[in-house]
Amino acid sequence: MNLLTQPKLLKKHDKSFQIEWKDGHESWFPYSYLRQMCPCAECAIIRHEGKDVHSLFSPQGDGDIDRIDVSDDIQPLDIQLVGRYALQFSWDDGHNTGIYPFEILREICQCPKCAPLPPIQNEEETE
Ligand SMILES: [Zn+2]
Ligand SMILES: [Zn+2]
Repeated sequence: MNLLTQPKLLKKHDKSFQIEWKDGHESWFPYSYLRQMCPCAECAIIRHEGKDVHSLFSPQGDGDIDRIDVSDDIQPLDIQLVGRYALQFSWDDGHNTGIYPFEILREICQCPKCAPLPPIQNEEETE
């Protein structure tokens, strides 16, 4: 198994979801960003202006995430583990068809190391 795509810790915060990986890397995903990156077919089509693409990492890439209209304070009502390989988020806008494989979550990490531009501020620890 690849340590890069295995979570050691999963944690819900007020505005972000935190994943600590077995290789020691840490990812913080703002919920609005995760919602916009939803890997389901429906959202992929919206991001690609109606073109039928089947996956987030199709040759066409992830499309234009700003085409997914989400409120800044979107929250997950529920987060379920799908087997050992993915998470399913049920969002409070009623959308719940996105299954996010850990492999993809690691790939879309927005930390300064993985995605140097634009910088995203980590949420302060609230506990
Ligand atoms: Zn979706
Ligand atoms: Zn990262």
